[in-house]
Amino acid sequence: MPSNRPVRVRFAPSPTGDLHVGNIRTALFDWAYARHTGGKFIFRIEDTDRERVTDEYIQAAIDTLKWLGLTWDEGPEVGGPNGPYLQSQRLDIYAKWAAKFLADGFAYHCYCSSEELEAVREAQRKANVAPGYNGHCRELSADQIAAYVAEGRKPVVRMRMPDGSTTFTDLIRGEVTFDHNFVPDFVLVRADGSPLYTLAVAVDDVMMQVTHVLRGEDLLSSTPRQIRVYQAMGVKEDEYPLFAHLPFVMGQDNAKLSKRNGEVSIAWYRERGFLPEAICNYLALLGWSPGEDREDVTMEELTQLFTVERVHSSPARFDMKKLEAINGDKIRALTPESFLEKSLPFLTDAKVISGSADEIDLLKKALPIIQERVATLAEIPAMLKFLFVAHFEVEADSLPKVNDPESKKLLSVAFDRLQNVSEWSHDGIEAVLRTALIEEMGLKPRIAFSAVRIAVTGSHISPPLFESMELLGREKSLARIQALI
Ligand code: GLU
Repeated sequence: MPSNRPVRVRFAPSPTGDLHVGNIRTALFDWAYARHTGGKFIFRIEDTDRERVTDEYIQAAIDTLKWLGLTWDEGPEVGGPNGPYLQSQRLDIYAKWAAKFLADGFAYHCYCSSEELEAVREAQRKANVAPGYNGHCRELSADQIAAYVAEGRKPVVRMRMPDGSTTFTDLIRGEVTFDHNFVPDFVLVRADGSPLYTLAVAVDDVMMQVTHVLRGEDLLSSTPRQIRVYQAMGVKEDEYPLFAHLPFVMGQDNAKLSKRNGEVSIAWYRERGFLPEAICNYLALLGWSPGEDREDVTMEELTQLFTVERVHSSPARFDMKKLEAINGDKIRALTPESFLEKSLPFLTDAKVISGSADEIDLLKKALPIIQERVATLAEIPAMLKFLFVAHFEVEADSLPKVNDPESKKLLSVAFDRLQNVSEWSHDGIEAVLRTALIEEMGLKPRIAFSAVRIAVTGSHISPPLFESMELLGREKSLARIQALI
């Protein structure tokens, strides 16, 4: 138990692609815990595997955290007293520790070839015993070593696991014990000199004085190996970081959330117009709860309320509908200025507007009528396109609904009567259409207004009809109706 040390929590992804829902849930909890306790939030990039972790993915990870508002106290771009914060820049540190472990007898050189290791695995499979290194190179004589070296074999550095077991208290799961019969000697450094995750992660957590490791449950089984590295480094037990393994995030089908059963990449959500505050709010509820059945949590409240005791140990289920509902709430809570600012890139990317002053003026009037209705920003271009298109056309799937004789009749009546609307306002338009189509023609509102809607906006899904017509203006509205008659 780190005694009275100031809290230091780290988020340490290996970005081999865009960060995904699980990564970000971890980052959010790390950040919230650091902020809640007044501690430090450290962001470390675990990029020792430079074939899979590219500069682009690293930059994307940095941008994603910034976009979400998860600011870090130490890490890339901000630096800090324990840097560098990219593991690829710390290779000499790992090499020194590995050399010390060899010198102190905690680790040994292993000369086994991959074919030999595979043969061991095969024999273990056949004998139905737990897989793992068989200890062949643990006690090699000087002659055997000389023979291997003469053969040109390059050794890996392997950690010697003592007999017995490792027990630690996980802050979420309670006491966890790993029998070392199932934790075989493991590789710290590859034959080419590059460090493995277990070495780098443990060395860095110690050197960066990390007090709390909150991370995904998938890493639970690597904990006894990391603890062995702390021991080899001479860290006292009361200075090991405390571990809290967060529950898995499952898809709707109860299998672990993956590309197969859901969208996992945060970039995907960003592109579809989910707001960072909605993503954070929703992810906060995945495995944690603020109590009182609440679902609306601000970042501020999260930092006030977040405790590890409130994290559940059972898996959390990702629910897209709930995320959309929360996103809709957060969109409604935006100020008009902020809604405009956030909508703009979606409209320009979809080429609905180019961004001219006239367009922005019209947009400022149009956005309030849809702010209540969208669940994501990406829905906006399709909803507002009718106001800005140069060459208007009714959408192909809506066209049949206005091409029959009844619809044409209804539209001619609407056209005639709308010409007489004195003031082109949504109230005026509504009054005229209600009288003509509903009272006089006796049509059902759904049918009557749906035809006008399709004629004017091109789609059977649109913002409120009368407001849409007011914004579009008399001339264009009438021309569009006339074109269908
Ligand atoms: N770099 C590891 C990963 O992305 C996580 C490290 C850790 O949190 O211990 O899987």
